[in-house]
Amino acid sequence: MSVREANAGHGDLTAGSWARDRFADPRAAQSVCAALFALDLVLRFAGEAVSGPWPRTGAVIVVALTLVTYVVPWSRIPGWVPVVVALGDLAAMGLSRLDDTGGGTGILMVLPALYLGRYFGRPGVLLTVVGGALLVSLPGLLYFQGDGPNLSRSALSLAVAALASFAMAEAVTRLQLQQRVSAAIIESVDVGLMLLDEHGTYQAMNRRHLDFMHLAFPDGHAGKAGQLGLVYGLDGTTLVPTEEMPTYLAAHSHEFDDVRIWVGDDPVTRRALSVSARVVRDDAGRFAGAALAYKDVTDFMRALEVKDEFVSSVSHELRTPLTSIHGYAMLLLERDDLPAQARAHLEVVVRNTDRLQRLVGDLLHAVQVDEDALHFERVETDLTQVVRQAVLAAEPAARACQITLRVEAPPRLPLKVDPQRIAQVVDNLVSNAVKYTPAGGEVVVQVGIDANRVEIAVSDTGVGIDAADRDRLFTRFFRARQAAEQSIQGVGLGLNITRSIVEGHGGRIDVESEVGRGSTFRVRLPLSGSPDLGPSSPHGTG
Ligand code: ADP
Repeated sequence: MSVREANAGHGDLTAGSWARDRFADPRAAQSVCAALFALDLVLRFAGEAVSGPWPRTGAVIVVALTLVTYVVPWSRIPGWVPVVVALGDLAAMGLSRLDDTGGGTGILMVLPALYLGRYFGRPGVLLTVVGGALLVSLPGLLYFQGDGPNLSRSALSLAVAALASFAMAEAVTRLQLQQRVSAAIIESVDVGLMLLDEHGTYQAMNRRHLDFMHLAFPDGHAGKAGQLGLVYGLDGTTLVPTEEMPTYLAAHSHEFDDVRIWVGDDPVTRRALSVSARVVRDDAGRFAGAALAYKDVTDFMRALEVKDEFVSSVSHELRTPLTSIHGYAMLLLERDDLPAQARAHLEVVVRNTDRLQRLVGDLLHAVQVDEDALHFERVETDLTQVVRQAVLAAEPAARACQITLRVEAPPRLPLKVDPQRIAQVVDNLVSNAVKYTPAGGEVVVQVGIDANRVEIAVSDTGVGIDAADRDRLFTRFFRARQAAEQSIQGVGLGLNITRSIVEGHGGRIDVESEVGRGSTFRVRLPLSGSPDLGPSSPHGTG
């Protein structure tokens, strides 16, 4: 079954159809009418109030019309034909009143009146008035020769029916206008939109989403959440299983943002989509459906790929000449015959090549994180020694800024980690602490251990971090306001890399900070490799 066929099976699901008139199937309305008609007759028979042939004729007409509604293929015949049924009902009601009591059938005029108003609008109201007057009121007046009570009954039933028909026609017209406005808005946005009901059945979608559906389900879709198709994960090659399909998650009342998928398998036409979902609840808070939005992010994803390739190849290309510059500058520094000024200049060259090498390393690292290509070589490592070495490396910079550097650690702390990567973590945190602490401040590195984890805490008395910035601190290229305002150099890669290494070891990193007073970054690493590290937030807010 194709998507369009699926749509046909569930009615047309595109947004335009929300605004179109529903097909005027008269079966339900006619059945209700027949039931009330029968009730009127039964009650009148019970009171032995029915006399003469007309009420029975009316009943025969209503029964016949009801049967007809169940055999006529309404969807295939002209839309005005149900009018005949409504007028037939009015005629039957007119006849039914023609006995000695007049019965209560006149009030049933409201039913065809509502139907005519609902499906035929103002012309339907006119039909109600004319049909009601000619088929119900007039026969009654002729039969009873216009006596007072009957006159009032005829006139009031007609007036009530006309009013009901008018109110219905107005309400439907307004509703349809609102629906058309909504449909126009829904169709005008450049985002695929879809509605699910409480059972996960597709209710409606805009045309943009229909295009995505054709890519994802070229063989058709049954209109139920979670159906498998050509839907791939972020890597573009792994098929998304049912329980991870955005529609399945939304149908199980999950709300989410920016779940990225690829739809389609043709490399030229496939699209990357960022999907968000919001749940609809009824007044009692029960799940009543969900709305999903699909944003096309193909260009963005392709640009990211190109950027990563570019960064990766440029970094590789830069590495070789940098290593060579650094090496030769170091060789020169080993000479004893260097004039003092040349030595000072060379030291500047070495310092800056060091910085450049670190930056290139960070860029490469960031690309590897994206590609999930980070590898850790875990060996038994003395964490205390790693920390002391990092602090030693930061000492010249700390001394230059008159910052006191202190380590509180046990003499030895063996742990199975990747020593180079963990050294990178401590280096990043200690060098940040020194960098963001004004002259005269203090940086303390504490290493502790408890039953199932090791904690490295780097505290400073520096500029601190605004609460609003803390959530984004670990995002690539993010720099907090204080750093930018005080023109402290940096690119915003270090903490992102630090977090990826810590989490790659099954650990967590948190930050506590107060602007103007300082910050504490806390890294927790599991002793046993088990990632249960207590209640701290995974993204390090403090
Ligand atoms: P960089 O230091 O190169 O800018 P990082 O990723 O290491 O990049 O840090 C990101 C941002 O976090 C910094 O720009 C700075 O605003 C803030 N930050 C990091 N460490 C500290 C600290 N110890 N004190 C205050 N702010 C810090």
